[in-house]
Amino acid sequence: MRFIVTAGPTREFIDPVRFLSNPSTGRMGFAVARAARTAGHEVTLVAGPVALPTPRGVERVDVVSARDMLESVRAALKTVGTGADACLVMTAAVADWRPERCAGQKLKKREMDGVLRLVPNPDILKSVRHLARHCVRIGFAAETGAPVAEAVRKCCEKGLDMTVANDVTERGCGFGTLTNRVTVVFADGTVRPLPMMTKAALARRIVALAVEAHNGRR
Ligand code: C5P
Repeated sequence: MRFIVTAGPTREFIDPVRFLSNPSTGRMGFAVARAARTAGHEVTLVAGPVALPTPRGVERVDVVSARDMLESVRAALKTVGTGADACLVMTAAVADWRPERCAGQKLKKREMDGVLRLVPNPDILKSVRHLARHCVRIGFAAETGAPVAEAVRKCCEKGLDMTVANDVTERGCGFGTLTNRVTVVFADGTVRPLPMMTKAALARRIVALAVEAHNGRR
């Protein structure tokens, strides 16, 4: 199979020296990319700004903003033919909003009035839904409470085969940790809670679930 994996945060610049972002380190996505490659799959890793080495044998595309990430995911999907042998894993913590405009020069403090106008970023999963319709599609839902209910909604709203949900306020879970405890929610409503494990072990489970979903369709 060909895995297209997104990882890390996106940055949405206000001016050349300021941006909006989030604390994602890219660990989960890089672990999925490594696990998929180790299992013998081809991997394209679309990475936001992170400080992680590229897993061996993985093709990496670096991006900055949500719109860059969308373009790179679209380009990667266009190379996978019908996509029947592909899997899109969206682990990236994409910024939902960006400044309405990015100033060409650093804004002077006196030019700022405390108001930042934002516009919504495109939802990557929704935007590529048609291109990825034959792929196995996996999303993530990092929540601060009721992650399963949100994951069920996301599966349906974003057309996902499965959503990996976690509560980022739980100890040992979420941004920057080496471990995670998630519940996998499937499109048919099945819910599979997994124990706390390393992100490397979780990545292997996710790759195995993707292969299962792919084989189940054939
Ligand atoms: O809606 P929410 O951001 O919680 O959804 C999370 C899932 O959607 C993740 O898989 C994330 O990578 C993806 N996402 C996206 N485009 C966005 C925001 C999130 O594809 N603009």
